[in-house]
Amino acid sequence: MVDLVSQYQEIKTEVDQAIINVLETAQFINGPAVVGFKEDLESYLGVKHVIPCANGTDALQIALMALGLKPGDEVITPSFTYIATTEVVALLGLIPVFVDVDEETFCIDSSKIEAAITSKTKAIIPVHLYGQAANMEEIMEVANKYGIHVIEDNAQAIGSDYHMSSGDIKTGTIGHIGCTSFFPSKNLGCYGDGGAIFTNNDTLAAQMRKVANHGQSKRYYHDTVGCNSRLDSIQAAVLKIKLAKLDAYIDARRKVAKHYDNFLSQFDGLISPVRDAKSRHVFHQYTMRLIDIDRDALNAYLAERDIPSMIYYPVPAHRQEMFIEFGSQHTNLPVTDMLTGQVLSLPIHTEMEQDQLDYICSNIENFINAERKS
Ligand SMILES: *Cc1c(COP(=O)(O)O)cnc(C)c1O
Repeated sequence: MVDLVSQYQEIKTEVDQAIINVLETAQFINGPAVVGFKEDLESYLGVKHVIPCANGTDALQIALMALGLKPGDEVITPSFTYIATTEVVALLGLIPVFVDVDEETFCIDSSKIEAAITSKTKAIIPVHLYGQAANMEEIMEVANKYGIHVIEDNAQAIGSDYHMSSGDIKTGTIGHIGCTSFFPSKNLGCYGDGGAIFTNNDTLAAQMRKVANHGQSKRYYHDTVGCNSRLDSIQAAVLKIKLAKLDAYIDARRKVAKHYDNFLSQFDGLISPVRDAKSRHVFHQYTMRLIDIDRDALNAYLAERDIPSMIYYPVPAHRQEMFIEFGSQHTNLPVTDMLTGQVLSLPIHTEMEQDQLDYICSNIENFINAERKS
């Protein structure tokens, strides 16, 4: 699905030197490389505070911990997402309340949020799935009306711009808190685990820094129960180099997406991803919908020809055994259930060659033609 080896070859000299610099100074934790990357990311995103941490799941957990919620408080999230979004809610003794997604954007349906709000609702976690933003303007309106915090799960959309009526703004900096992951295959990925939290709120920033550092305000004085979550200097050094290329990487992904769009438009049953007018899609995934076409058969047909394709995600959160204790399987989420049966993601990355694209597309075409005949 991605080609991290070819991408590394392109930046090898720079990356190797940056890693050697860390090794030679031996400042592995909280060193200048971490500070340098944090400052670069703050200016790239136009956000006041970036708090690096160990991974994207920790970022979400730290964000929720910093809000000081009580067990039994409710958090609204989509069910159609990677498990980390919803898992941290339950891990902290909070109740995940699942809201259906929009059929076109695959993101939480903002028009259905208000009906899910109760006196216990304390946060909403919209997920910018596959690299395109949820309807943040409406989500912020509802959240502000009820005094609820918004934590954006921006793990798949870093670098994306969102058009608010007040102006363009980077996703992850619209809500009270934004979270991201630097997992290697993410749009901005390191060579191990990493994550970060963003906010413009000084109080929340101080609280999240404290939570991520054992609840410590002054060395060896611990005010609250926290955790230990750090981005290490080697990962930060790699990320600083890759951040400078993020916009070029996004352009490369968008070109691939455009090629797939043009190709898929000739087939009735293959629906290419809808582009929301307000959001610049950064194509962490290129995910099409299959209507009356056998998805498992296409997936197997492509696999036999060494073409990976993936179902993100075959089981939505509300149907996971993990959440049976919440009775989530009885939640009525018809769009989520429909989409989990239809979606298939095609390879997309920054080093894709025209001949690879041609090979993938011609095999999809062969499959469709063979299906039509049978
Ligand atoms: C990758 C991802 C995460 C978790 O990130 P990790 O770094 O793997 O912990 C959370 N949410 C979404 C939507 C993701 O895609």
